Parts: sequence; structure tokens; C-alpha cells
Amino acid sequence: MTDFDDLYRELILDHYRRPRNKASLDHLPDTAVHENPSCGDSLKLEVRMDGEGGIEGIRFDGHGCAISMASTSMMTELLRGKSRGQALGIIDSVIDSLRGTAEENSLEKFGDLAALSGISRVPMRVKCAALPWNAVRKSLLP
Ligand code: ZN
Repeated sequence: MTDFDDLYRELILDHYRRPRNKASLDHLPDTAVHENPSCGDSLKLEVRMDGEGGIEGIRFDGHGCAISMASTSMMTELLRGKSRGQALGIIDSVIDSLRGTAEENSLEKFGDLAALSGISRVPMRVKCAALPWNAVRKSLLP
């Protein structure tokens, strides 16, 4: 983590300590759990759609490292109010950027997610950061 400058570190810790849209989702079955076994990150997501196919809100429950939880918290904020199509576009773009396979790193233009810009240089952490994005992608696909 020494690659991250202090501002980015603070953003990540802020989302980790005060996660946005975190709630108890005990009503969801264990089969709804998404996991990153290599780190022990585990989360459930609840995506609420509005009447017009847009994302009304996303809540999450779970535990894990600061990177996975911060990425999840940021994801719930960024995708709220987006249409399914917009969200899927953002998700693909974010995953590619986290993995370092994007032509252009898009994280800078997605608000707090800029804090994860250096993740692609830390392969161990890419799975942590990508976990909620892969999970929400599954939730949005038919
Ligand atoms: Zn992790």
C-alpha cells in the first residue's frame, strides 16, 4: 500500500470506517454471498430497481479488508440512479481499470473510486477491489 498517497489512503479508510449503504441483509440466503477466498472478503448485495429500469439503490452487507469494503461502499454510491445499461457500462469500465487492462484508466472520472487507481499494480488486491463490481454485474444481468 505504500504506493498510495495520503489522500487516497484517507478516502479508502473513510469508506471502510463509515461504509455507505451498509445494512443487515440477513433475509437474503447464503447462496447470495459473493466471496473472494484469497483474502476472505464476503458480501451480499441487494439491488432495488425503480419502475423504469433504473437503479433506485443498492445496499450491502458483509465483511472483508479495507479495499473490498471501500470499493463496495463506493460502488453503491456511484451506481445509484443509473439505468441498467449505464451501470453495466460503468461496471465493465471499472473492472478493466482495476485489472489494468483498460486502454484508459477510467477510475479518475468516477469520484472517490480514483482512490483505487493504483490497485492494478498490486495484483493481490485486484480481486478485493473487483469483488463488488463482479457481484453487482451478476445481479444486473438477466
Ligand atoms: Zn480483500
